[in-house]
Amino acid sequence: MIERAVDFERLRWMRCGTCSNEWRAHAEWLSRFHQGHERCPKCGTNCEAERRPDFWAAQDDPSHDDSTVLDTFWYHTTTHANWPDRAFNPTANLTDVTKRRLQAIGADGRGLERWAARQKAKALHLGTYEAAIENMLRRMTDQDGVDERFYLYRVRLRRDASLEPGVHPERADMMGDVQLAELGEAGIDILRYVNTHEDPSSVSLAVRFEAILAVQVIPIPLPVTRADAWVSTAAARLLDAAARPAPEPKTRLERMQRHRPSALSIEASKLEEEVADTLPFGIRDRFHRLYNEKNLTAEPAAFPSKLVGLAALVNDPRAVFEFLETVPWRGVAPLRAG
Ligand SMILES: [Zn+2]
Repeated sequence: MIERAVDFERLRWMRCGTCSNEWRAHAEWLSRFHQGHERCPKCGTNCEAERRPDFWAAQDDPSHDDSTVLDTFWYHTTTHANWPDRAFNPTANLTDVTKRRLQAIGADGRGLERWAARQKAKALHLGTYEAAIENMLRRMTDQDGVDERFYLYRVRLRRDASLEPGVHPERADMMGDVQLAELGEAGIDILRYVNTHEDPSSVSLAVRFEAILAVQVIPIPLPVTRADAWVSTAAARLLDAAARPAPEPKTRLERMQRHRPSALSIEASKLEEEVADTLPFGIRDRFHRLYNEKNLTAEPAAFPSKLVGLAALVNDPRAVFEFLETVPWRGVAPLRAG
């Protein structure tokens, strides 16, 4: 089996939608490009054009080769402890607030039901280790998942799984979701696509249950030792901040804000910045608002441990792979076709 080398600072492969020029770009260039300060080096198209340059799978990406795809370990992160599970209930982990919000969509009171049906119809998504970790960080900040327990899955595909030829562009709608029925109707188990959101320009897979042979699972982030010096200092800083009142507003804008950040949340944001500074440039933005203020006060040492644990997933993936080596594989029962 092939284990790819992890590299969160990989150069990204770009392709111009206007002139088809292809090139590699680093994270700083991409940041300037997305602000409109860089252009296609050949035809000058910038990020505002409809046919703009976008991430594309490198010509030498090994995932162009079918048997390499089947021989490679793939990754997935989720809050589900028993994935993949055909019988899973997508609403089981939702908070009451989220349930009510989904319920209200569509005004007929069946929003939650429709959402659940959509989740169950989705293909399973697998990607590189980096893509799986970035996906978890995005879910933590964008989708109220900040205090949920996440699991990392390492996946082996079946040798006889069938692949749709070629690497396809990511779907522009619904965060790139592919439906199980689409794959089933096309008679394929695996569809390759360019991931433009996580580990951008890497190849990810939309797969049917039938494509998965076995999985290993570990809870992430890995535990951090209580003796970590930065963690204990950071916990003391949070405790100290929790005892202080919110700072007085200084500017007119700050005086107009109804909800001023507490001294505690300001300190927590500073901790996030300190940890983010140890990470590759392209992933630093993900380390933002990873806390829930209520839990910060309840257990101040838990947040710095979590930050250190999350950063270690990026900076020290070797520890993750060593842990995975100790975990047994669970076979995913071959299910009837259809
Ligand atoms: Zn161009």
